[in-house]
Amino acid sequence: MNRIIVVGGGIAGLSAAYYAQKNIPDAHITLIESASQWGGKITTDRVAFDDGQFIIEGGPDTFLASKPWGVALCKELGLDERLHGTNQNKKNTYVLNKGRLLPLPEGLAMMIPSDVPSILRSRLISWFGKTRMGLDFLLPAKSVNGDESLGSFVSRRLGREAYENLIEPLMSGIYAGDGDQLSLASTFPYLRDLETKHGSLARGALEMRKKSSGKAVQGSRSAFLTPTTGLAEIVEALVESLRLKGASLRLNTRVTSINRNLDLGRRAKQRQWNVTLDTETLDVEGIILATPAYISGQLLASFDPELGSTLQSIPYASTATVSLAYRLSDVPRDLDGYGYVIPRREGRKALACTWTSTKFPHRAPEGYALIRVFVGRAGQDIPWDENELLELAKEELQLTLGITEAPLLSRVFMWDKAMPQYNLGHPEILKRIDTALEKHPGLVLAGNGYRGIGIPDCIHSGELAVEKILKHEGHKETRS
Ligand SMILES: Cc1cc2nc3c(=O)[nH]c(=O)nc-3n(C[C@H](O)[C@H](O)[C@H](O)COP(=O)(O)OP(=O)(O)OC[C@H]3O[C@@H](n4cnc5c(N)ncnc54)[C@H](O)[C@@H]3O)c2cc1C
Repeated sequence: MNRIIVVGGGIAGLSAAYYAQKNIPDAHITLIESASQWGGKITTDRVAFDDGQFIIEGGPDTFLASKPWGVALCKELGLDERLHGTNQNKKNTYVLNKGRLLPLPEGLAMMIPSDVPSILRSRLISWFGKTRMGLDFLLPAKSVNGDESLGSFVSRRLGREAYENLIEPLMSGIYAGDGDQLSLASTFPYLRDLETKHGSLARGALEMRKKSSGKAVQGSRSAFLTPTTGLAEIVEALVESLRLKGASLRLNTRVTSINRNLDLGRRAKQRQWNVTLDTETLDVEGIILATPAYISGQLLASFDPELGSTLQSIPYASTATVSLAYRLSDVPRDLDGYGYVIPRREGRKALACTWTSTKFPHRAPEGYALIRVFVGRAGQDIPWDENELLELAKEELQLTLGITEAPLLSRVFMWDKAMPQYNLGHPEILKRIDTALEKHPGLVLAGNGYRGIGIPDCIHSGELAVEKILKHEGHKETRS
């Protein structure tokens, strides 16, 4: 029997274990997690309150429906009917601009404006900025060899003002990154495709919008989805499925090193990897490392120092979320949308603010507001203290929404080195990692550090990791 170990019980590791159990029927799967709960960045607090409950997400709060792997896994787990879309009746999103909330123009397709009248009406961009945006229709596609930063690309197509006031805050919400450092090829490669295919971002975005509205008619409910009582439902269903099918699930267990047992030589069927835990060493044939890249780098450094340092060269930004609950009557402003994003140039510590109880009304009891402040971005220090973060969030809500009452309850989640930064050079890092892994059959990586940070991408990375293990198994069968 094959023995496969998955290290890291976040969504990538859980998905890898799930697909390994499904697709390699004779394998024995062990899933190791150093924390005391499953899910990694996915963590949901369900707080009973006044005959109802607050559903408070500490990390991600929703996932993108258009990337198919999240919805597909939920279907397999029987969660399909429990998926909620965002509130379609109050869809406004705002951008903080010189301290005021201004509505995001309508018609953004994958972040790019495609509705000219709505841009012309927007107060987010000056007339000079709008004229500069119009040049996008005229400027020829530039042939750029190699990669380019997201900031430089959007600025050369739409102008710096559109980048800073419109695109940068939206992009920050996803990567908590610095757009002038982020690699276009690794973050939003389709933007370059739009330029090449359509000669203009706006023309390309319009095409994309037409195509996606066609798809919406075919039945997709909302661009973003989440299960009824929070994303932890996915984690709970995965753990339950793994348990029922006999996987070994170990919480509070840290992998401290990994080594390759080269003495086995040609007897490839034998267990060639030694995985050392706090108290014992396991010999296994396959390892899926679904830990953050810098931890995977530390674990592999002893037998492949170059691979170890390449993995550790992927930078991560630290973030925090602060959720606060109020009586609706204590919130002076109508929470008539999903919330607001904050451009870097505003100089605030907060990055965005989600009006959770409007975006997902079922997450707060009737008559109450649940608001989440997202703090921290690449290159910015955040106070690493629960009380300071709470004060910072309250100050943000006072400044922008005028809330002066104390919250009825609050939850602070701190995420140290949580958001990988796919900076310029990331594609080359990935190539080096792939080349190094060719020398280590049976060892594969999964998780948000490489080819996608969102939940569906992480699920897909787990599924792909299992395919790679299966390929390796296939080779062994033919050799033996
Ligand atoms: C605040 C925040 C908001 C986000 N919002 C969204 C969103 O709305 N939508 C979306 O799609 N994505 C969002 N993301 C991104 C997404 O949540 C993450 O990219 C994803 O959950 C990461 O999953 P993962 O399994 O790769 O890593 P992790 O969740 O980090 O899991 C890795 C696991 O490995 C464990 N581990 C580490 N070292 C060891 C060791 N030595 N031995 C054993 N175990 C170990 C860790 O404890 C951890 O549980 C958000 C992220 C954050 C932080």
